[in-house]
Amino acid sequence: MNILVLNCGSSSLKFQIIRTDLELIEKAADVRLARGVLERIGSETLITHQSGDNPAVKEAQPLRDHHAALDFVLRWIVSPESRIDTIQSLADIHGVGHRVVHGAEKFNVSALIDDAVLKGIEDCIDLAPLHNPANLKGIHAALRLLGPGVPQVAVFDTSFHSTMPETAYLYAIPYQLYRRHKIRRYGFHGTSHRYVAYRYRQLTGKKKEETNLITLHLGNGCSVCAIREGKSVDTSMGLTPLEGLVMGTRSGDLDPGVIEYLSHKEGMSLDEIDALLNKQSGLLGLSGLTNDMRELLEEEKEHQDRRAKLAIDIFCRRARKYIGAYLAQMGGADALIFTGGIGENSPVIRKRIYENLEWFGIETDDRANAEICDGKEGDISKPSSRIRVFVIPTNEELLIARDTVRCINSKQ
Ligand code: ADP
Repeated sequence: MNILVLNCGSSSLKFQIIRTDLELIEKAADVRLARGVLERIGSETLITHQSGDNPAVKEAQPLRDHHAALDFVLRWIVSPESRIDTIQSLADIHGVGHRVVHGAEKFNVSALIDDAVLKGIEDCIDLAPLHNPANLKGIHAALRLLGPGVPQVAVFDTSFHSTMPETAYLYAIPYQLYRRHKIRRYGFHGTSHRYVAYRYRQLTGKKKEETNLITLHLGNGCSVCAIREGKSVDTSMGLTPLEGLVMGTRSGDLDPGVIEYLSHKEGMSLDEIDALLNKQSGLLGLSGLTNDMRELLEEEKEHQDRRAKLAIDIFCRRARKYIGAYLAQMGGADALIFTGGIGENSPVIRKRIYENLEWFGIETDDRANAEICDGKEGDISKPSSRIRVFVIPTNEELLIARDTVRCINSKQ
């Protein structure tokens, strides 16, 4: 089956076409046929697309909305220009998998989209007012352009964390607020944490019940997950993606008292504080320079910029603190896994997070660490290390495509 995977943001659309089916999943022989990104939808849209191993092509077009953006993508996919031999017409697209950010307590697993599922995703808008509406735009555009005959599946960022125990997901605020409004921790990046745990099993030959990990997804958004017996038992993001690690522009953990104090001192509204914590904080806020880790490392090295160093140090310290907390909570783990743009590509940051933890059972190999970047994967720990350390590039799209195939098959 050829599965179109869509990840829609408020003004962006990322896509992949993946050929997969139950047999290919079994053999881990799924193939990515094409991928692309459309940014700045609503104005002059920047488009990058690439099929197979052909060079990526960049172009710009005015695309009004997500419908126009997906229309563009579908036309490109079926055109001879894309050189995807197995797709000649839209009838060769057999399913669509959508990344949906928030599934709250309604969706513990991926779901074949029907009216009830659409309503469920709409009901979660309160919890993810920026993300779920964008995901819904992608779903509606695909329904209109491909028709009801092409099955569509929603894969939720929160689902993997639905196995967290109450003790991990409840906030210590009056319990009736959880009952009344479902205020609790949900966690995000679930598909990424789930993918690297799956890949760890493939690399090590372990069974699901033997999968005890701490996975660190460090990208623009960052989260840590504690995985016991293959299941998420704790994660650093909460009701929203703001909690936990220091991120590109998000503060992560913060005394809630700061909010009242800020509004008092700066005369800021709740909306303004929300924007400050989500969009002007984290690496950007601390450094006053950028949210981009590569640039910060450059500033630190080339210009000995004090605030760049401070931002990086605080970023690493927070990640390390979570590793310690989760190891204590789980009573140890078999491996740490780094993923996401920073986790996959920055040996320097990885080392600053785990260094001097030999007493803890984490012994790493500097040379192996230095060699792993640019999409490579591998074990960077010494053979004597009690806790292994892996770098595994994430591949959320692959799991979305596979879930799509499984959901379609289970309904047939
Ligand atoms: P998103 O969360 O938006 O998907 P990514 O996972 O692509 O983001 O991560 C983006 C982050 O990864 C940026 O801060 C970027 O600077 C960082 N990054 C990418 N490559 C490197 C590198 N070689 N060294 C350090 N940081 C890097």
